[in-house]
Amino acid sequence: MKIFNTLTRRKDEFVPLEPGKVKMYVCGPTVYNYIHIGNARPMIVFDTVRRYFEYKGYEVNYVSNFTDVDDKIIKKAIEEGVDADTISKRYIAECKKDMEGMNVKPATTHPLATEEICGMLEMIQSLIDKGYAYKAEDGTVYFRVKAFKEYGKLSHKNLDDLQSGFREIKVTGEEGKEDSADFVLWKPKKDGEPFWESPWCNGRPGWHIECSVMSRKYLGEQIDIHAGGEDLIFPHHENEIAQSEAANGKTFANYWMHNAFLNIDNKKMSKSLGNFFTVREISEKYDLQVLRFFMLSAHYRSPLNFSAELMEASKNGLERILNCVSRLNDFLKTAADGGMTEAETAAKAELDSLVAKYEAAMDDDFNTADAISAIFEMVKLANSTASEGSSQAWLKTVKDTIEKLCDVMGIITEKKEEMLDSEIEEMIAARQQARKEKNFALADEIRGKLLEKGIVLEDTREGVKWRRA
Ligand code: AMP
Ligand code: ZN
Repeated sequence: MKIFNTLTRRKDEFVPLEPGKVKMYVCGPTVYNYIHIGNARPMIVFDTVRRYFEYKGYEVNYVSNFTDVDDKIIKKAIEEGVDADTISKRYIAECKKDMEGMNVKPATTHPLATEEICGMLEMIQSLIDKGYAYKAEDGTVYFRVKAFKEYGKLSHKNLDDLQSGFREIKVTGEEGKEDSADFVLWKPKKDGEPFWESPWCNGRPGWHIECSVMSRKYLGEQIDIHAGGEDLIFPHHENEIAQSEAANGKTFANYWMHNAFLNIDNKKMSKSLGNFFTVREISEKYDLQVLRFFMLSAHYRSPLNFSAELMEASKNGLERILNCVSRLNDFLKTAADGGMTEAETAAKAELDSLVAKYEAAMDDDFNTADAISAIFEMVKLANSTASEGSSQAWLKTVKDTIEKLCDVMGIITEKKEEMLDSEIEEMIAARQQARKEKNFALADEIRGKLLEKGIVLEDTREGVKWRRA
């Protein structure tokens, strides 16, 4: 298997640290709002990477954090008059619902920054002891970038250029730095902010240290793959390397994988630009499988522009696969036992070569776009060879193959009976009426029926909201 490695800037052959095992860490979201579909791209992409490793027989230890202490969380908490913990807990729960909807497997471990402060204090202290970090007068602890000789190796930046670039940017509160390129490991608390005691000052961690600490705790000092969106290459991942390699004296991760952006009108989708759709919004219009299929229709290192047309195309493409599997299931109900005919044996050989094509695409840096093309070719083959008169052996082989390869993409091939928006609205209105009449048993029954069809209701201050689970 070949993986494009940001560190070496080429496709490297994958050699695991331990045979048959993959240790991977994927930087997770900062939880202060619903995740947007840009955040969903790394989740879907790296879940697919994980699934493909599992398909190949590897045991994957997959760690992905939630950043639950951050300026944006604190700001939101102040706006709502609640504590930061309430905000982060709420959006972690919402994020997990979205992940489930997108069929993203839960990580082996989902650590939270606020629960790993002890480990951070320990790593920061060891960096100070080794001369890689220092405390400024106000209690801020900085990483001493020039002490780490390989700084810049991931982002392919030169320290001199970085220093002159940073000299232009003066960050308030960071006047105590020895050098403009140094970055914060620990900072003093401000009024009203959550804080922890430390040997340097009451305060909270900088953003980068959490991943170095969690990765080491849950995966060990050395890991196979570290991943995230390409905006994380610098400074986040560069700083993670500096922290981890300075603290552990070992190569941190052997392969660095980065997904390109999900764009809208060719601009990065982001909360700060306000040009985003949340996964929740999309779930009101589409089954989230469509979103997943759309994300995988492009190679993960190519920018992907979000548009209604592409979503429609993905919906149709997905439908084609689901219809095919559903027909195969129907034929199987009545198919007589028996082996393959000669023609079916020939079709099986063709199917095998398509499986090889799929695997070759995935082995080549997870080219899901080409892998999906191979699935479409299998669908075409199934549609042209399977019928009521087909042998059970052939029907089962082709169906199982398509299902297995779709599962690697995280696509569930079982067809859900979709309810139309208008039908849902009608049932919600009936439930509201029942509630008005204090017939709560009926109201609950309607809610239950909707849930069976995969429709989740949420009673909010603005009225009843629904989404597809
Ligand atoms: P954040 O919550 O901003 O730290 O982002 C969580 C993850 O989503 C990181 O891996 C980001 O790189 C990734 N990400 C954020 N916006 C986009 C986007 N528009 N396209 C692709 N990945 C993104
Ligand atoms: Zn990280």
